[in-house]
Amino acid sequence: MSDTFRALQLSKTDDGQAANIVELTENDLMDGDVTVEVTHSTINYKDGLALTGAAPVVRTWPIIPGIDFVGTVTKSEHGSWKEGDKVILNGWGVGETHFGGYSQCARVKGDWLVALPDGISPERAMAIGTAGYTSMLCVRGLERQGIMPDSGDIVVTGAAGGVGSVAIALLAKLGYRVIASTGRASEANYLKGLGAAEIIDRDELSGEGRPLGKERWAGAVDAVGSKTLANVIAQTKYGGAVTACGLAQGPDLPSSVMPFILRGVQLIGIDSVMAPIEKRQDAWNRLATDLDMAKLDAMTETVGLSDVAEIAPKILAGQVRGRVVVDVN
Ligand code: NDP
Repeated sequence: MSDTFRALQLSKTDDGQAANIVELTENDLMDGDVTVEVTHSTINYKDGLALTGAAPVVRTWPIIPGIDFVGTVTKSEHGSWKEGDKVILNGWGVGETHFGGYSQCARVKGDWLVALPDGISPERAMAIGTAGYTSMLCVRGLERQGIMPDSGDIVVTGAAGGVGSVAIALLAKLGYRVIASTGRASEANYLKGLGAAEIIDRDELSGEGRPLGKERWAGAVDAVGSKTLANVIAQTKYGGAVTACGLAQGPDLPSSVMPFILRGVQLIGIDSVMAPIEKRQDAWNRLATDLDMAKLDAMTETVGLSDVAEIAPKILAGQVRGRVVVDVN
């Protein structure tokens, strides 16, 4: 690598914030014990929040955003990593308080890194990204509650988004019957191609609902929150489980205790950002075996660093389908 590298830098301005491509040197990076030559990053919902300033995700200014990256270790003072190792980073406040993945070079704590599994290329690792790794955390959450393919259907909300698309592909490959809830009827064929058996209109779930509804599914992957999550819980079968990971509709949860005390429904919170390393490694190993890579490719588009700022408002508006990889070179 040359002495300088390119990065997308987000700065505060009098009018709000501005994103610019800048040339930096390693001296400009923040502290850490591992330096990584980054090849790819990605755009998640949280990156959209950071890049637009729609929520106060960024807490260090100026910042290099990007909550995910993949690359090759160039320097390491950490016992687990050596030059040449291929590594993935997801979360830990990177792209929020620590310089992130929209950069050709990153310096982070070695404790934050996961080895790129054999069988996943760097580009596909970012096609998975935080969104896909979170989908696997949801699948693991359902499995731990004993929700298996013969337990009944699984509903996936925010189906055409990043978390939703990967969740559908994973669940279908594992043998679950998947109901995809989407606001984009035009994406029905796309969702069926990923493995959804049934498509429902998200309006069925996004309005005011009853505390208990007809028992429709044994489990759920919910990326939407708010009334949608309340309705998903209210329509979960006796003994079922709902994994809650997102807030695309809102952070509120206007629910009641009825599904919990009358049907024994379990609500499982899913966090990817501070998840311990063993949980991450387990999720990434399972992604290497349980995700159909052809389906992953079909849900992914690749863009350059200079396209990132333009895509950010679209992901918040629910206009991005599947996953977006950023090739930083
Ligand atoms: P995307 O924007 O790719 O997907 C979100 C999807 O939600 C949209 O595509 C849309 O799906 C649906 N949606 C959008 N707005 C609304 C609305 N107002 N009401 C109902 N549905 C809506 O984002 P990601 O997949 O990257 O992230 C999804 C959520 O998961 C986000 O809230 C994100 O913050 C959260 N998340 C949480 C993580 C954690 O650690 N807990 C990690 C990763 C993500 P459709 O068009 O099909 O209806």
